[in-house]
Amino acid sequence: MTGIVVLGSTNMDLVAFVAHAPKRGETVTGREFRTIPGGKGANQAVAAARAGGEVAMIGAVGSDAFGAQLRHTLESSGVDTDLLRTAEGPSGTAHIVVDDEGGNAIVVVPGANGTITSLAPGEEALIAGGDTLLLQLELPLSAVLDGAEAARRHGVRTVLTPSPAQPLPPELLAATDLLVPNEHEAATLTGIADPRSAAQELLRQVPEVVITLGPAGCLYAARDTEPVTVPAPSVTAVDTTAAGDTFVGALAVALGDKKPVAQCLAWACAAAALSVQRPGASTSMPYRSEIDAAS
Ligand code: ADP
Repeated sequence: MTGIVVLGSTNMDLVAFVAHAPKRGETVTGREFRTIPGGKGANQAVAAARAGGEVAMIGAVGSDAFGAQLRHTLESSGVDTDLLRTAEGPSGTAHIVVDDEGGNAIVVVPGANGTITSLAPGEEALIAGGDTLLLQLELPLSAVLDGAEAARRHGVRTVLTPSPAQPLPPELLAATDLLVPNEHEAATLTGIADPRSAAQELLRQVPEVVITLGPAGCLYAARDTEPVTVPAPSVTAVDTTAAGDTFVGALAVALGDKKPVAQCLAWACAAAALSVQRPGASTSMPYRSEIDAAS
């Protein structure tokens, strides 16, 4: 069992499927509507719990009906929500329009997520008792930094997914042990398109980097070692939503099991490849037995 704490977002994704997205002032009739529990923090928590980790979530849901649903989604995958706050007001929502060409337009309203600006003492104690802290950038940066610094003080490994991509304060990178951008985020952070060169640049600020490369797998780089590329299993993808979150959740579990890095990466790629073959975000995430069977 692995002590993983996730400090991050919970969002309800409200998805309308339409032939074409409306222009300003236009009303269009959609074909289908779905509510899908998401948020990068919650997705990583569910992925890690399904992969066999012992996972607790720090964040906030709203006092609305979505909040109860978001909490239930975490709990039904075995995530400990004892310290998940319920903030007065709406939950975080993502309003997504998907058109017939698969293009999308998204408005994210942070809602309850925006109320987490710093850690409460009990939350710091939870982080201190874990092995690994998973962070993303969908909470206010002050809370993310608070979490990273708490983890650093208590010798807890910090894994940061720098999404949505944005310039990062040097203090946050200084408190990060492992940075896991996708190739677009790596390029945004460094201004370098080539993932190998971007990884070398990022190693100036963090000791370990994994750049995820979609169907091409991932690239691992650490200071003073040769970079390692791990291919993804060749599969037919039907929905790549939350592939990166599935990858990070499984990677955190494998690293906690103290397997060699190359094995951890291959296991995370196997988990992510399973998730892209099924529709949805948390609904597509595999359980440990499935990942073991596929890797
Ligand atoms: P994100 O979902 O954050 O944009 P990526 O697209 O890089 O990140 O995907 C994360 C991981 O998911 C990849 O490293 C890979 O292991 C897996 N993955 C993504 N797309 C595919 C695919 N088409 N086939 C197999 N694995 C995939």
